[in-house]
Amino acid sequence: MPDPASTDRRLIGSFDYVVIGAGSAGCVVANRLASDPQTKVLVLEAGGLDDWIWFHIPVGYLFAIGNPRADWLFRTEPQAGLGGRALAYPRGKVVGGSSAINAMVYMRGQAADYDGWRQRGLTGWGWDDVLPYFLKHEDHIAPPPGGLHKAGGEWRVEHPRVRWAILDAIRDAAEAAGIAKIPDFNTGDNEGSSYFQVNQRRGRRLSAYGAFLKPLLREKERRNLRLETRVHVERIVFEDGRAKAVEFTHGLGTPSEEKLRVEVGGEVVLSAGAVASPLLLERSGIGSGARLQGLGIDTLVDAPGVGENLQDHLQIRPVYKVQGVKTLNSDYARLWRRPLMALEWAALRTGPLTMAPSQVGAFAKSSPQYATANLQYHFQPLSLDSWGSGLHPFDAFTASVCNLRPTSRGSVHLRSADVHDTPVISPNYFNTEEDRQVAVDAMKLTRRIVAQAPLARFRPEEYMPGEAAQSDEALLKAAAELGTTIFHPVGTVRMGGDDDSGAVLDGRLRVRGVSGLRVIDASVMPTITSGNTANPTMMIAEKGVAMLKEDARR
Ligand SMILES: Cc1cc2nc3c(=O)[nH]c(=O)nc-3n(C[C@H](O)[C@H](O)[C@H](O)COP(=O)(O)OP(=O)(O)OC[C@H]3O[C@@H](n4cnc5c(N)ncnc54)[C@H](O)[C@@H]3O)c2cc1C
Repeated sequence: MPDPASTDRRLIGSFDYVVIGAGSAGCVVANRLASDPQTKVLVLEAGGLDDWIWFHIPVGYLFAIGNPRADWLFRTEPQAGLGGRALAYPRGKVVGGSSAINAMVYMRGQAADYDGWRQRGLTGWGWDDVLPYFLKHEDHIAPPPGGLHKAGGEWRVEHPRVRWAILDAIRDAAEAAGIAKIPDFNTGDNEGSSYFQVNQRRGRRLSAYGAFLKPLLREKERRNLRLETRVHVERIVFEDGRAKAVEFTHGLGTPSEEKLRVEVGGEVVLSAGAVASPLLLERSGIGSGARLQGLGIDTLVDAPGVGENLQDHLQIRPVYKVQGVKTLNSDYARLWRRPLMALEWAALRTGPLTMAPSQVGAFAKSSPQYATANLQYHFQPLSLDSWGSGLHPFDAFTASVCNLRPTSRGSVHLRSADVHDTPVISPNYFNTEEDRQVAVDAMKLTRRIVAQAPLARFRPEEYMPGEAAQSDEALLKAAAELGTTIFHPVGTVRMGGDDDSGAVLDGRLRVRGVSGLRVIDASVMPTITSGNTANPTMMIAEKGVAMLKEDARR
């Protein structure tokens, strides 16, 4: 469907900066830009406000994922490596973006991830360089000595408020299998097992919106920051190679749909995330020239890297039935327990409703050939067939395990120029021999952990995939059947040094070939970090906006 001519759109005004997407990155960027009252900032967000209780009660992710109120409801293309299955690919569609529906795990990744970026020619992106940007917004509940954590920032980091005997036993079993207990995953080396730290404040979810945008919007005297929700950005408009305007629709697909436009004096910051940012670049004429031509879009910059380099963590989810110990499955099944859980949360902010899906994690090597841990476990005192389906009617735990540094590369592209159309998302899981081998080794390590003495008293029985899967071939088939995203797509608009021809951005996150446009979100990562991706994304936002302000002063 062709876009209406720019002149048919109502102009809503002119701003110094327009931030597209109020997600994990966009909220940090908008906060830092608007902290100067002289700078006019507009934030455009496709989702609505977070006026639903399940955005705030941590366990609400169970209801938010797969719900159009909260989730874009993307799906991947059928994945050859997963036996032809197409996966649900959740992304937050609400203020706070994916931080409003995610699992709240606070994880920075490994020092080696960022040192690897620096070695690719990305000066200023090594671990020592980026650590101050993690710390800049951190508000750790009890920062230990050593300077790796700090209190006083906007972004609260707390310890989980619920303990499960089964999870303690799993940590003991992991230790018996050679995975040491460690106090903190966020030191640059996360190998070992620990309880995850979480982004919650007194048992409530803290989203990037709640931490960075809402407080500013509530200030009566602040007039330089404006948030528009339920507006779907369609494209960025350029004049003489400079980003000058953004075109968007209010109420897309509703009878009151209105086509709008805003002018930009400074820069446009694209923070729509690893799925939507490449789509918006393509809609704006920045992408592979051949691909754009096929879609009927005029090419402004021939940038074949746009939408390529998709990396994600595929979690394999073996499930073990247990006896003689409580899990959320049976706790939740007892109807009389539910009001008690609600009361406990309301009165004390403790109990199962404060639960992130995973409380205990472990990082380990699938083989000694890896210099640092290449597997991450998320142990969950619950089990289900898939997210969105109900909990199993028996006690069980899930030992979700993912390859932290997959070598498979996928892509995200426009299916057509029609703004209503769904994107083509192809992560290409298990596309390399290495990724297939890591999956098989991960399943063997899982069985080794579960077979250790500390778990024996709970008589674990492998429910999925089941003991029948023994050969490497059978284990790989099981991994393909049990594998699903752990929601960490990154890399689709990657930054890179001058000799990286696939890099869409330079090391200061500026889009090559145009001016006045930066991308600041999870899509910029050249390689995926070894852990959950929200906090690396917020670090990128903190560093990206600092560079933007520095460049503006020049
Ligand atoms: C279910 C789930 C669980 C996860 N668990 C964890 C976890 O426990 N720990 C962790 O570290 N990471 C986790 N992640 C990953 C993490 O949340 C993401 O990596 C991170 O939030 C990405 O940030 P972002 O700013 O790049 O994108 P997002 O936070 O997704 O923000 C993008 C924003 O742009 C908006 N947008 C998109 N297109 C348009 C458009 N055309 N017009 C206007 N607005 C638009 C979106 O609505 C969204 O608000 C999880 C993610 C999910 C989905």
